[in-house]
Amino acid sequence: MKELKTLCPYCGVGCGLLASGDGTRVTRIRGDSSHPANFGKICQKGATVAQTLDSPTRLRHAMLREGREEPLLVVPPSRAIAAAAEKLDTMLQQFGPQAIAFYLSGQLTTESQYLFNKFAKGSLRTNHVDSNSRLCMSSAASAMTLSLGSDGPPTCYADIELADTFLFIGSNAAETHPITFARVQRRIEKSRAECIVVDPRRTATVDAATLHLPIRPGTDLALLNGLLYLLRADGKLDQGFIAGHTDGWEELSAMLDDCPPDVTAKTCGIPVYDLVHAARIIGNPRRGLITFWTMGVNQSAAGTFTSNAIINMHLATGQIARPGCGPFSLTGQPNAMGGRDVGYMSHLLPGQRQIANPEHRARMEQLWGLSPGTIYPHAGYDAVAMFDAINRGEIKALWIVGSNPAASMPNLPVVRAALERAELLIVQDAYYPTETTRFAHVLLPAAVNLEQEGTFCNSERRVSLMERVVAPPGDAKPDWWWAKQVAGAMGFRKGLEFAEAGQIYDEFSRVTAGRPNDQSALTYELLRKKGPQQWPYPALGGSSARRYEDGHFPTPTGRARFFARPHLPTAETPDREFPLLLTTGRVSNQWHTRTKTALVPQLNKFDPAPYVQMHPEDASALHLHDGQRVQVRSRRGQSLSILKVDANIPPGVVFMPMHWNELWSPRASPNEVTTDATDACSHQPALKRCSINVSAYASHDVAATESMGSLKAPSQPSAT
Ligand code: SF4
Repeated sequence: MKELKTLCPYCGVGCGLLASGDGTRVTRIRGDSSHPANFGKICQKGATVAQTLDSPTRLRHAMLREGREEPLLVVPPSRAIAAAAEKLDTMLQQFGPQAIAFYLSGQLTTESQYLFNKFAKGSLRTNHVDSNSRLCMSSAASAMTLSLGSDGPPTCYADIELADTFLFIGSNAAETHPITFARVQRRIEKSRAECIVVDPRRTATVDAATLHLPIRPGTDLALLNGLLYLLRADGKLDQGFIAGHTDGWEELSAMLDDCPPDVTAKTCGIPVYDLVHAARIIGNPRRGLITFWTMGVNQSAAGTFTSNAIINMHLATGQIARPGCGPFSLTGQPNAMGGRDVGYMSHLLPGQRQIANPEHRARMEQLWGLSPGTIYPHAGYDAVAMFDAINRGEIKALWIVGSNPAASMPNLPVVRAALERAELLIVQDAYYPTETTRFAHVLLPAAVNLEQEGTFCNSERRVSLMERVVAPPGDAKPDWWWAKQVAGAMGFRKGLEFAEAGQIYDEFSRVTAGRPNDQSALTYELLRKKGPQQWPYPALGGSSARRYEDGHFPTPTGRARFFARPHLPTAETPDREFPLLLTTGRVSNQWHTRTKTALVPQLNKFDPAPYVQMHPEDASALHLHDGQRVQVRSRRGQSLSILKVDANIPPGVVFMPMHWNELWSPRASPNEVTTDATDACSHQPALKRCSINVSAYASHDVAATESMGSLKAPSQPSAT
């Protein structure tokens, strides 16, 4: 069978794949050499995608249970649709639209994200629509919107070959964005480019660094302010750019007076010499500086402020809006950028419109053919607030699509309580069981990449079309199809009766016309003919690889905005009872909560089991040894894991990967203990930092630790 163009379902690099199949199974998969994100290269996760399609843990049929204590039973799709519609309608009639919420995913296609968002905000009139992007990118998105006037990075991957100075801050790109990182590595080798990595741990990314700054966790904002102090002192500012294209410099400059090198170095726990060295590298690029950041910055109570500080540095030095430089927020999920464009957050509407803005609501009502005043005028609940609202009994019904919040959300005891309390829980997923499905009343089976047509938008704003290579298994269908069917069964047909994904994309791209993320000239036909394209792609002009090259920013003044963001100590700091600082993250061969990757032997070979990484000095002080089973406790709960004694992490800090959870390794999730404190601007949880203690696991609960890292699939109820 001929090879078809599709996309990797994992990270925000957005690698193109070529796949062929025999109708039911994918028989060959390789990197697409024509795709500008990867030029044919793929990592181990991308290379093993086919194995995740016919995994024994695929959800192949709809399932339904009458009561929480009843078993989930396989039912025909028509019965599941009728049950979901009837139960949702009951909630709507009894409690009104504000009792209904949706939790979506950056792994859905743009078309599915759009249809769910339209159904919720336009038909049901609830803005309680949030997504797992809230856990991932919302601080970067909020900072780019505040500083530059629009979400979405100003840079592109091609800038890597034009830059000669790289700063990675809060990003272990070697493991989380391996194909983009390999591109940076090639550039470093070829042009002797400089690379600074800011990370408390010595990660794989540090191996490429000319300078590693192992700052104290939570001091990245102090570091960035200190660097800008030195750049100002060394005369490295671009006064012409500041005067011509920005507002707010005076206020920021006044704040920088409080950030001299000795204060910064002390706060960050690094030598003054290293701070000065970093400022010299950043201030003297031969060609250009790119700063990459991701969850290490975003998943913090100061995530927006720190992202603002990254942009401050680029604006002040004029390292933006021209080839080979710029602030580059790397997206975690493959279509988080598409989701943000679609407005699948509780404060957004499509086309980067804000719910709080009456003109934006009126325009979307016009575009959606709704009566004026239909869209509820207030933002809905963000992810953390949504689960709190369920626990208060305010939200009664939740529809989760393509996400596993019972494992991925912070402070899991609170999330599990909410899932237990929800009067109606619809879970739509491609995999079963997951930590979340055990709470579901209705389960709907979803198609994944290679089984459906659709678009994704990657970290560099590039929209790619994926073709259907094989049919989905059993009764699985594209996510948007289920939304359309349930909406139709509830009587909401107007504006939702799309026959195919391409029609949804046509409508979505049209509603972006005139907006900063204008992609109104993009169609499936064009994407098939010309290949993946970056937005903006307006009807009157072509694609734009870099943004703001004309010096105009889509802010009210047309100028970018500096923000004076002082470093503040974080809310939860180590104390006598919880003396260690826990940070969480990812490893290269697992994905999120392992619903996809748990049964791929090639991946488990490299990263087989959960662990707690701890410095030898801490281990010795606690009388713990490598390989020992330990318990990790915080004010919120406790987690079990295996100790990995490792000098690559500083004393006082421990690290746990986020992938292992209850289903595969009982109580192994770090989210049993993480905090649900959030950033005040972006409402992103501070998943990277909480106070804990670690001790030997002395319980006789052998079963809890025996299966850590087990590769055996959890048993599934039989399909009857
Ligand atoms: Fe997939 Fe990311 Fe690997 Fe590319 S780098 S193959 S998108 S996981």
